[in-house]
Amino acid sequence: MIDFNKVAVLGNELEYIQKTFQNNHLSGDGEFTKKCHAFLESSLGVEKALLTTSCTHALEMAALLINLQPGDEIIAPSFTFVSTLNAFLLHGAKPIIVDVRPDTLNLDENLIEEHISEHTKAIVPVHYAGVSCEMDKIQTIANKHNLHIIEDNAHGLFSKFKGKFTGTFGTFAAQSFHETKNFTCGEGGALLINNPNFYERAEIIREKGTDRSRFFRGMIDKYTWVDIGSSYIPSDILSAVLFAQFEKRDLIQQRRKIIWDQYNKILPDWSVENGFRLPVVPQDCEQSYHMFYMLAPDLNTRTRFIQTLREEDVYSVFHYLPLHLSSMGVKLGGKAGDCPITEKVSDQLVRLPLNNSMGLDDVEQVLETILAFKT
Ligand SMILES: *Cc1c(COP(=O)(O)O)cnc(C)c1O
Repeated sequence: MIDFNKVAVLGNELEYIQKTFQNNHLSGDGEFTKKCHAFLESSLGVEKALLTTSCTHALEMAALLINLQPGDEIIAPSFTFVSTLNAFLLHGAKPIIVDVRPDTLNLDENLIEEHISEHTKAIVPVHYAGVSCEMDKIQTIANKHNLHIIEDNAHGLFSKFKGKFTGTFGTFAAQSFHETKNFTCGEGGALLINNPNFYERAEIIREKGTDRSRFFRGMIDKYTWVDIGSSYIPSDILSAVLFAQFEKRDLIQQRRKIIWDQYNKILPDWSVENGFRLPVVPQDCEQSYHMFYMLAPDLNTRTRFIQTLREEDVYSVFHYLPLHLSSMGVKLGGKAGDCPITEKVSDQLVRLPLNNSMGLDDVEQVLETILAFKT
């Protein structure tokens, strides 16, 4: 059987969990949380990385940090996970939902400006499949209109645009370490902060609105309630698992690249014959090998494709449903025809198994099943 996703122990995960008990430190910001912060900061070249309990929570922290007020708006794609919108809606902003580009399925930078109003506070690009959005154009628009960029980089840890890591373009970026992502601790995330004006308040918001982080650094002699905040710090047990995965960065990325490249090498002829389209990675983008997706010619073919693979015990999946047409999206004013590309690709997209447990023999089995499928 080839699972769509399968967890793997790749290094010191279990030893490090034990170490948190020896350290007598299971709560947050212990040895391993600090090691994860240092790893993210040095490997990406960001000044400040803070682990959070999820990517959703990192986005919520960003929403709190830019002081959203009722009536404010943020611009985000329809083709994404709910949290990209929910985090901002929860903190008072109206998401303005915009269509994606037909090639990369990323927020269409040419549609952003027409959706900007006097209420717009931020642009929230999602680097879909770890293939970067057109960040130079998005940065130009953000600068011109004085808007924040908050990157949803859940798919894109170690992706680059024009040689620069995704997650380093926005005022903030949110990472995910959910079980389905390249690096995982089950549930987890990180907020990357690229503007020093926000460091101190981010620590306070993450620590329930207290200045406890400064207290621990010996900068003040007692800590107290100073601002709004919540409980966004993950347990050091989770950070221990994550740090063990970070230590295997090269192994994980290499393994995923081999799988991705093999799909991409074998499938072109079959895809042309059967009307499927393979992923597009523009020249300027170095991807993270987060997912391998294809676009089926239509919904019926995709349904039959997923079913045929399943009969051979190969598990492929589809996503995302257009957010502007979800129950919540409709309540926000979404209607059919608003985002034609999203509406179309959402019926067509299928993701092939790609995870840290797979070997080339598994990939061969997936490919054999696919090559036998005819439209
Ligand atoms: C997985 C994902 C999230 C949410 O991540 P959590 O860590 O589960 O909160 C947000 N945005 C995108 C694009 C994702 O794929």
